[in-house]
Amino acid sequence: MSVIEVRDLRKAYGGNKALHGVDLSIAQGEIFALLGPNGAGKTTCVEILEGFRHRDSGDVKVLGMDPELSGHGARQFRDRIGIVLQSTSDAGDLTVNETIRHFSGYYSKPRDPDEVVIAVGLEEKKDALIRSLSGGQRRRLDVGLGIIGSPELLFLDEPTTGFDPEARRSFWALIRQLQNSGSTILLTTHYLDEAEALADRVAVINRGKIIETSTPANLGGRATSLARVQWEENGVMREEFSAEPTGVVTRLSQKFTGEIPKLSIVRPTLEDIYLTMIGLEVGDTQ
Ligand code: ATP
Repeated sequence: MSVIEVRDLRKAYGGNKALHGVDLSIAQGEIFALLGPNGAGKTTCVEILEGFRHRDSGDVKVLGMDPELSGHGARQFRDRIGIVLQSTSDAGDLTVNETIRHFSGYYSKPRDPDEVVIAVGLEEKKDALIRSLSGGQRRRLDVGLGIIGSPELLFLDEPTTGFDPEARRSFWALIRQLQNSGSTILLTTHYLDEAEALADRVAVINRGKIIETSTPANLGGRATSLARVQWEENGVMREEFSAEPTGVVTRLSQKFTGEIPKLSIVRPTLEDIYLTMIGLEVGDTQ
């Protein structure tokens, strides 16, 4: 079942075509990452899906509804989604606990506020004023506010910017938990390792168009791309690219009769593939 269905979505700001002909289909329970460079159209796309921006044309269904609803329909829609925006809102004079409790009042079936505070790792800060939080702690609070309403669909716009590595890992665990409880998650991120760790599928968008939608493992032919085998020979680093690196290593191990000096086998990372795709696009259109 599709939670998000987008066909031929278009949006221009004056003469600037921010989205031209975007198609997306995201299934229930999926974690889907939208990847693209600055200005690619990610926020425009996501905010149209959230009902915050008007589209010029195209069919958009989110949880079976048109996000450009008003009145009762809009309230029903808001009750079923969670949003973590890029910029943090300022509620400086409230504590973490007060803020989470306050927001829980907007939803018909909120999660337990105490559980949410723990889930986002802010238990020690629950009585602290928002304005006294660090950047990363505020971001965790944003995530808490995004999930307080038990959303069926959660939008995360660059959720871990400013997180330290440990906080990112615990955030990923939280997102997987949400997925296990049935939520669908649409994520935008500039961290390719985050997309790899979390996403079932990724779409790469550049200049308002989706270049490819795939699993992180298969994007840009990654699964079948050549592996780089490196080793040291006579004091010099050597390398060979091969679709069958096992054969190369077997040959080398016979040659060295034992340990192959400084052996490594590396396949392209998601970031390598992504940068190649974005680079090729730029080259193609020049
Ligand atoms: P980033 O990774 O930097 O957040 P993005 O992929 O989210 O970028 P968008 O914010 O969707 O990109 O911007 C897409 C294009 O639309 C850009 O060229 C941007 O300058 C333009 N744009 C976005 N919002 C507006 C606006 N409110 N008015 C005019 N132009 C806009």
